[in-house]
Amino acid sequence: MTAQPTRLQSDIDFNREGKQVTYLRLPYSSNVSAYGWIGIPIAQIKNGPGPTVLFMAGNHGDEFEGQIALAKLIRRLEPKDVKGRVILLPMANFPAAMAGYRTSSIDAGNLNRSFPGDPNGSVTQMIAHYIESVLMPMAMAVIDMHSGGRTLHYIPSALMAKDAGGEPDPKHLAALLAFGAPVAYMVNFGENRTSSAAARRQGIMSIGTELGGTGQVSPETLKVAEQGVQNMLEHFGLVQPVAGRVKRQSRLMYVGGFEYYLHAPTRGWFEPFFDLGDAVKSGQVAGMMQFLDEPLRDPVPVAFSQDGVVICRRPHVQVERGDCIAHLATDVKR
Ligand SMILES: [Zn+2]
Repeated sequence: MTAQPTRLQSDIDFNREGKQVTYLRLPYSSNVSAYGWIGIPIAQIKNGPGPTVLFMAGNHGDEFEGQIALAKLIRRLEPKDVKGRVILLPMANFPAAMAGYRTSSIDAGNLNRSFPGDPNGSVTQMIAHYIESVLMPMAMAVIDMHSGGRTLHYIPSALMAKDAGGEPDPKHLAALLAFGAPVAYMVNFGENRTSSAAARRQGIMSIGTELGGTGQVSPETLKVAEQGVQNMLEHFGLVQPVAGRVKRQSRLMYVGGFEYYLHAPTRGWFEPFFDLGDAVKSGQVAGMMQFLDEPLRDPVPVAFSQDGVVICRRPHVQVERGDCIAHLATDVKR
């Protein structure tokens, strides 16, 4: 990461007590707005000493559960309820979130493939740089709320990355389970351009989510999102626990490498033989690639290459070669 300072400005004062809801100003000089800036909503609720936790959503703009949950939290959370500091970035890749797309409508940037970012780079790189170099160093944990977006559907899950082959850090695992999603899964660190990798570089804890998807929200997924946010606030000691609230026990799972993922081997129409939540075996036929435009062509079977439970699937029937059709997770003993 470059040592150069961010170009984003804001009137937010991170040391000030109380509630601030304002915009980050990202300079963007365009054909329709010379000297203009893009306003990215940001909020802080601070009350005295205590931990700082960063809540993010809209890292991918077509993942709405977290964006809605954080918008509601910004309205309801007051400084008197808080001990410490809550920083909220509810539409992190703002151009993507406004367009309702995964990637930026300005530079096509995928924010979660843009860390550590660049203060002199594209709009998306500038946002990534701000998050990693300004926001994360203030926090002890980041909660980055994702979902399946338009092209995937998840069993609502929370997730954390861990070292391949290594045991998870107990404090990190406790935070993952505290989110209270139906599934809590661990993945190995891999990709170094994600918010999770950024958090690791900055030495802070990172909890992610995959809350649903298909470009929709449901009362159920929104409930998981909102209860998860409350659970995180309570877990990190930022708010007093609400008495009498029953917390869900997550099913602890693991998502490994390539063999856990099912990709389309060719273009076509995928006819699935499985549903979300099904337990499947390695070698089991997952479905048939149909070629509806060539009625006499034989369909091609596609098989799972790992035992596991389908926690994610692509809802769209038409696929291109390389599209992710599903991914599996396996149970972890607790
Ligand atoms: Zn995402």
